[in-house]
Amino acid sequence: MVLADLGRKLTSALKSLNEATIVNGEVLNAMLKDVSGALLQADVNVKLVKQLRDNLTSAIDLEGMASGMNKRKMIQQAVFNELMQLLDPGVRIWTPTKRKTNVIMFVGLQGSGKTTTCSKLAYYYQKKGWKACLVCADTFRAGAFDQLKQNATKARIPFYGSDTEMDPVVIATVGVDKFKAEKFEIIVVDTSGRHKQEEALFEEMLQLSSAVKPDNIVYVMDASIGQACESQVKAFKDKVDVASVIITKLDGHAKGGGALSAVAATRSPVIFIGTGEHLGDLEPFKTKPFINKLLGMGDIEALVDTANELKLADTLKKGSFTLRDMYEQFQSFRSMGSVTHILGMIPGFGPDGMNEEDCQKKIKRMLVMMDSMNNHELDSEEGAKLFNKQPGRIQRVARGSGSEMADVHELLATYNRYAKAYKKMGGTKGVFKGGDMSKGVNPSQMAKLNQGLKMMDPRALQQMGGVAGYQSLMQQVQQGAAGSTKGKGPKKK
Ligand code: GDP
Ligand code: MG
Repeated sequence: MVLADLGRKLTSALKSLNEATIVNGEVLNAMLKDVSGALLQADVNVKLVKQLRDNLTSAIDLEGMASGMNKRKMIQQAVFNELMQLLDPGVRIWTPTKRKTNVIMFVGLQGSGKTTTCSKLAYYYQKKGWKACLVCADTFRAGAFDQLKQNATKARIPFYGSDTEMDPVVIATVGVDKFKAEKFEIIVVDTSGRHKQEEALFEEMLQLSSAVKPDNIVYVMDASIGQACESQVKAFKDKVDVASVIITKLDGHAKGGGALSAVAATRSPVIFIGTGEHLGDLEPFKTKPFINKLLGMGDIEALVDTANELKLADTLKKGSFTLRDMYEQFQSFRSMGSVTHILGMIPGFGPDGMNEEDCQKKIKRMLVMMDSMNNHELDSEEGAKLFNKQPGRIQRVARGSGSEMADVHELLATYNRYAKAYKKMGGTKGVFKGGDMSKGVNPSQMAKLNQGLKMMDPRALQQMGGVAGYQSLMQQVQQGAAGSTKGKGPKKK
C-alpha cells in the first residue's frame, strides 16, 4: 500500500466517525482499529502503531468530554496530533545561512538516490537565488562523475569532479576549497555508496567528513526498502554525525511506512522528500502539510481546513489577489498530494479528464514560471496587467523558465480567471467588504455570495458538495477566519 492509499484509508476511518449518529466507546474502538490497520498495511512499524493506539486511547476521554463539545472533531484532532508527534523530531531543523559557505555532505547506500538528490538540492537552492554547486566524491561507482556532470549541466549548476583521481578525499578537499574560494553558498558533496553496510564505506565517510567538515550531513533514505530503513539510518548515525534525512522515492510503489517508522524511531529530522526522478521533484518536508496530505482531501471538512491552509480566508480579507497568492496556493496544492481533487476549484484550469500526473505537471510548470518572476511582479496588485503593459516581462519569464511565451500567456490567463473568481467571492467589492469576516454574513451578503457561485466551475461546485456545501464552506471559512490563530497559513516572504 503506497502512502496515498494510507491517506485514503485514514480518511475513511475518520469519516466513519462522521457517519455514526452517536459517538460511543464502540465507535471509537472501531475507528482506532481502522486507523491502526491502515498504518500497519502501509508498513508502519508494529510497535509504533501500538504506541500510537495507546496514546490515542488515553488522550481521548469520551466520558470526560463536555456534552457541548464536538466529539468527532476532537477525536479527529487527536489522531492528527498523534501523527504529528510521530514525525516531529523535536529538534531544530538545520537550514543553510545566506552569504556564508554551507557544505552539505550526502551519505547513504548505493541506489538510495544520493546523486539524484544532490542535484535536486543544489537546483532547489539555485532557483531560490543561492549560489550553489556540486562536488562528486564518488570514485567507487564507475560513471558516477558522468551522472553528476550530466545532472549539473542540465541544471547549469557548477560542478567539480575528476575522471582520473581515485581518492575521494582528495577530490572533495580540492573541490570544496575551490568553491569556498569562489564564495559559493551551497556546496553539495556527493559520496559513494555500497550495496550493503560495510566498514570500508563508513571509514570513507568518516575520512571525507573530517576532510570537508560539512555543516550538515544528510542521510538519503530510500523509502522503497521499507523497515530496513531503521537499522540503516542507525548504522550511519553511529559513524558520522547525520543531522538530516531526505526520504526518496515516496512517489513510487514504496509503502513509505517503513521510512516513516525509521524517522520516528531515530527522531531524525526530515528536511526534504524526493517525489520523482526529475530535478524538480524535491519538496521541503513540513510535518503538518504532510499529515494533511496523508489524511487526504476527500471530504468537506478537509476542504475547509485546506481553504484555511490556502489562506483563502486571508486572501478574501485582503481583497486583492496577487500572483504570489496564486503561487502559494499552487504550492500548497502540490504539498497536499492529490491535485485533481482540488483543481476543480480553479476556474477553467484545464480540460476535463486531466489525470493526476498531467495536473501535477501543469501546476509544476506554472510554479517554475512564477519562480522566474521577481518580487515586484509576484506582489503587484496589478497582477497580469503589469505584464500586458510591459510585454518584455513575459519574454523574460519565458526565457528564465525555459518555456514558451504562449505558456506564460496561459499562466496569466489562469491567474486572471482565478483572481476574478476571488474578487467575486470576497474582494474589495465583494461579500466581505471592509475585511471583517468575524461578524457573520447577513442575508444580503449571502445573496452576493450566491452570485459568486455563478463564477465557479461546476465541477468545483460539485467537489464542494453543491450549493449547500459551498455555503457551508464559506461559513466555515469565516469561522476559521474568526478564530484564525491556529490555522496559520504559509509565511509571506
Ligand atoms: P545513488 O546510488 O545513491 O547515487 O542513487 P542515484 O541518485 O543514482 O539513484 C538511483 C535511482 O533512483 C535512479 O534511477 C534515480 O532516478 C532513482 N531515484 C532517485 N530519487 C528518486 C525519487 O525520489 N523518486 C523516484 N521515482 N526515483 C528516484
Ligand atoms: Mg551516486
